[in-house]
Amino acid sequence: MSHTAELIAVGTELLLGNIANTDAQMISEGLSQLGINVYYHTVVGDNPQRVRQAVEIARQRADILITTGGLGPTCDDLTKVAIAQAFGKELVFHQESAQRIRDRFAAMGRPITENNYQQAMIPQGAVVLPNDWGTAPGVAFQAEGTHVILLPGPPRECEMMFRYRAVPYLKQLSDGVIVSRTVKTFGIGESAVEAQLRELMNALHNPTLAPYAKPTGTELRITAHAGTEEEALALIAPVEQQVKDRLGDKVIGVDVGSLEEVCLALLKEKRLTVGTAESCTGGLVAKLLTDLPGSSAVFQGGIVSYSNSVKAGALGVPYDLLDRYGAVSPQVAEAMALGAREALGCDIALSTTGVAGPDLDDRGNPVGLVYLGLAWAGGCHVATYQGGRVERERIRRQSAQTALDLLRRHLTGAPLL
Ligand code: ATP
Ligand code: MG
Repeated sequence: MSHTAELIAVGTELLLGNIANTDAQMISEGLSQLGINVYYHTVVGDNPQRVRQAVEIARQRADILITTGGLGPTCDDLTKVAIAQAFGKELVFHQESAQRIRDRFAAMGRPITENNYQQAMIPQGAVVLPNDWGTAPGVAFQAEGTHVILLPGPPRECEMMFRYRAVPYLKQLSDGVIVSRTVKTFGIGESAVEAQLRELMNALHNPTLAPYAKPTGTELRITAHAGTEEEALALIAPVEQQVKDRLGDKVIGVDVGSLEEVCLALLKEKRLTVGTAESCTGGLVAKLLTDLPGSSAVFQGGIVSYSNSVKAGALGVPYDLLDRYGAVSPQVAEAMALGAREALGCDIALSTTGVAGPDLDDRGNPVGLVYLGLAWAGGCHVATYQGGRVERERIRRQSAQTALDLLRRHLTGAPLL
């Protein structure tokens, strides 16, 4: 049976715009990984009548209610009272929680005030979700076919309580397991992916197939529900294969990390080193690679060759080429990559040269035009990236990633761009 959850965030500060509802984002992401539908998020202020109203509405359209916030000791912390009323439950004193709160205060060396014990009041028959990350315990109970989970508001507490308390509780609700695998792609937008896979997506129920647009590329999550993990994986396998067949070399891997992690792993496996010569990306390719632990095994170094004099001096790009074709040209991208390979003593070199904008370059090249060079022992290749007239940051990030994709393609034997 599939479940539907609704999130109710309690807090006037959310309505006033003082803070963003990050708890809801975190929980929603977790619920989708569990295969639990979420159709509504509600945000309501610290007002008992309105919280109760929100609960009344939510319970009609969801069988799991998760609230965040309002579990603390102060008088605006009214979630438990409102929930207990909505479900006709008494609040009872929970000795163990009171003791935990006492211990916590003792450990912090702070005096405990009477209102702190309010946090130990629990709807009758509820399961207490111990809070090891703060004082207010969470609560879970089932009433009239609805599962209700109350989590504290502070984001870190909420995240820990969700992950270590709510998720195990929710997993018990579903018979069997939910398993997902994520196919990561690069260089194909969400709508193009959808167009290619629409029929397949519509035809599927278990597993389901859903695309997610991320700044780093479109991801496809295949989620299966089955009695055991093996059964779920067996349901996923043929769909995964179909997705891979249709998207071909756009797929960078399944359940893999970022594009740079994929490149790092491939370089290690093949015992090859890489270096960079970057103009318009200003070192971003090198940054992406060196953000990863263990990159020193493969990353030799990088030269940020912004000016023509550095392109000529450090990389040996002939002035003649720079004059004839301009710095933003396939000829210079090639010379930069070849020069970097020499200068850095690496097996493979990547180069970038382009117009990040907002202004055209002095030769009238359009904003967003970037040439990406790749040099290796057997040759050299230049790819053209034309990301269009978008913000500078986006052009730089996308072209840096496209350079890494060029590297991935070279290392896997896929056609170069
Ligand atoms: P406390 O014990 O700290 O009072 P609580 O469970 O009563 O916790 P609230 O008093 O509602 O929670 O909120 C505590 C803090 O947590 C808020 O000041 C706010 O910064 C943060 N917070 C609350 N709800 C959310 C939310 N939905 N998303 C992000 N942050 C939140
Ligand atoms: Mg509070």
